[in-house]
Amino acid sequence: MGLDSLYKEVILDHYRNPRNRAELADVHRHADGNNPLCGDKISLDLTIDGESVTGISVQGQGCSISQASASLMSEAIKGKNLQEIARLRQLFSTMMTSDETIVDPDRPGAVLGELEALAGVKAFPVRIKCASLPLATLDVALAGDAKPATTD
Ligand code: ZN
Repeated sequence: MGLDSLYKEVILDHYRNPRNRAELADVHRHADGNNPLCGDKISLDLTIDGESVTGISVQGQGCSISQASASLMSEAIKGKNLQEIARLRQLFSTMMTSDETIVDPDRPGAVLGELEALAGVKAFPVRIKCASLPLATLDVALAGDAKPATTD
């Protein structure tokens, strides 16, 4: 199977079976995200223990890219500390917005895990906001900002 179809499989799987949808017992941070361009919505709850995100719950509606990205992100950051999450955020942003190649085609998943499946979205500029909405919402949640995230 080629890398492109592998990526499509990962995105479809996370869209059809979104991870981390269950409500959390303890919500320490919350943020809503909104991509008016596409109609994507994300609602994110976090449980934070010291420096680590120990619990995450994501609800949302919208296109397959935004919802798959939310599920992929939730898996990627669960159990990670804030420093690791900041690093991940930076790598993801580089992958989505620059020409710099951070994904190693010979070692799929080595840099960003399954989030690398979203690299192909870069070819469709209008969808980059869909893919980026969950991490933008995460930023707001971690910053403790009360304003909803928007991709505009
Ligand atoms: Zn979308």
